[in-house]
Amino acid sequence: MAGCAAAEAEPVAEGKRIVLLGPPGSGKGTQAGMLAAELGVPAISTGEMLRDAVTLGSELGKRVEGIMNSGALVDDETMADVVRARLARPDARDGFILDGYPRTLPQAETLSSILADGGRTLDRAILVDVPEDELVARALGRGRADDTEEVVRERLRVYHEKTEPLTGYYEAREVLRKVDGHAAIERVTERLREAIG
Ligand code: ADP
Repeated sequence: MAGCAAAEAEPVAEGKRIVLLGPPGSGKGTQAGMLAAELGVPAISTGEMLRDAVTLGSELGKRVEGIMNSGALVDDETMADVVRARLARPDARDGFILDGYPRTLPQAETLSSILADGGRTLDRAILVDVPEDELVARALGRGRADDTEEVVRERLRVYHEKTEPLTGYYEAREVLRKVDGHAAIERVTERLREAIG
């Protein structure tokens, strides 16, 4: 029957396409994992995907290793390919928690268009807010290879310059929520649950 294709297509679940925003060290990764398990959607961390590529020694890994170790951002085109391929996998069909993407305004536009291509929109962008001195202390305490003080400070600088403007972008689209991330892990998870609704 004409006009029934859309109605017969499988319904797209509401409320589960979520972006976590926040500075490095804000605890996004930990929270993304816990919330994703609760919601039954994948936690997608672009940082983790890139680190895996580096460990594997793949073409992508070789290209991004030096950039990551300096605290700079991988270029938007490369990240668009990575994210488009990941979101096309069936487990991300009804939802996901994205951690570490988008990190620039062009990446936010790319995400919108990837979702629009599948007839979807973002449900929430949640900023996990943590004071700066707490971030530096946390980052230096976790001992990752790319976590020297100089690199941590560079990542924070890049965050303020390139990623912070995304809060305005998502506020304008009425999907932004802010959560105070300066609290015990369980308390922050609780606040995020409320923000997801
Ligand atoms: P952190 O949580 O410490 O900020 P991530 O684990 O999310 O870091 O990412 C580590 C590194 O991977 C970043 O410093 C950057 O070089 C690269 N990276 C990850 N996601 C992106 C992205 N969306 N755009 C550009 N570079 C990225």
